[in-house]
Amino acid sequence: MFRKLLKSGVAWGLQQTHFGGQSSRFVAAYHRTVDEFPRDPDSGIPSLYISVKMLERQLDWIGRRFRFVSLDELMSLPPDAAPAAAVTFDDGYVDFYRQAFPLLKRKGIPAAVFVVTDLVGTTEWQIHDRIYGLLARSWRPGLAHALVDPLLSTMPQATLLRVIEHWQSGAALTDPDRRSLNWDEIAELHRAGITIGSHTRTHAILPAESKETVWSELRGSRLAIEARIGAPVRHFAYPCGQFNGAALKAVEDAGYHFAYTICAHRNRAHSHLTIPRKVLWENSCLDAAGSFSPSIMGCHVDGSFDLFKGCEMNHGGALCWS
Ligand SMILES: [Zn+2]
Ligand SMILES: [Zn+2]
Repeated sequence: MFRKLLKSGVAWGLQQTHFGGQSSRFVAAYHRTVDEFPRDPDSGIPSLYISVKMLERQLDWIGRRFRFVSLDELMSLPPDAAPAAAVTFDDGYVDFYRQAFPLLKRKGIPAAVFVVTDLVGTTEWQIHDRIYGLLARSWRPGLAHALVDPLLSTMPQATLLRVIEHWQSGAALTDPDRRSLNWDEIAELHRAGITIGSHTRTHAILPAESKETVWSELRGSRLAIEARIGAPVRHFAYPCGQFNGAALKAVEDAGYHFAYTICAHRNRAHSHLTIPRKVLWENSCLDAAGSFSPSIMGCHVDGSFDLFKGCEMNHGGALCWS
């Protein structure tokens, strides 16, 4: 409670003094959109969820300050253009099609979806959902949440999958609402103007993988999407925002023009491959009383909070290049 009060107070003060300043480009990163935010933490990683109602509230706030544009348009705007924002959704959950897309269509807001191509059309869970589901079920959701990212970023995915398979024996994780989009839905979204980007083949954390795996994840996912939608795939989102120097180079070599992180770090020589996004979810902009706070939203959008909170990721020297 004290932390929430402090956050609300700091956010109000920063917004009053315009401390963070008005940024002229903003990219939001969402994951799952649901009718109701799940109150039971066993259901899944809380910070991946936003309700349709809260998504609309956040988009309305953004829309009063920025013009919504597609990623292609955002990347081609001259530096002195009016403030513009893009909205992105990671992982390619089917709820993008069912819950977010109708809202975006109604409001005329362009968006992008970054899909994990090996999961398209399957009922297999994303790897982070599998880790969380197993830990939360056999342990405690709070601790499970704290362990997902360290496990993902320290182990090659093949090793982690062997551990999960062993652990999972007999404990099936099923939930049809958690499935990924299928190719028909992706093709329909593309025809409707939604940008389809890549998020690798299997949600591999690139700095944890071998050169060969990184190449197959990047090139394989781009070719898979292009074969289905019949259009070039120019945009890539790093799984869990994790990148290092080798990942940047591989992303470029694999044919992507733009790549998106989830922190404020940029590589000066490859700024188009380290485009910052802000992850937003149901509770990210709530005040101590549990209400939507325009001041907190403002601090997330203008980056004020990032000044106090460092990035926990190890970018392996990728930030020093110039
Ligand atoms: Zn992801
Ligand atoms: Zn960072």
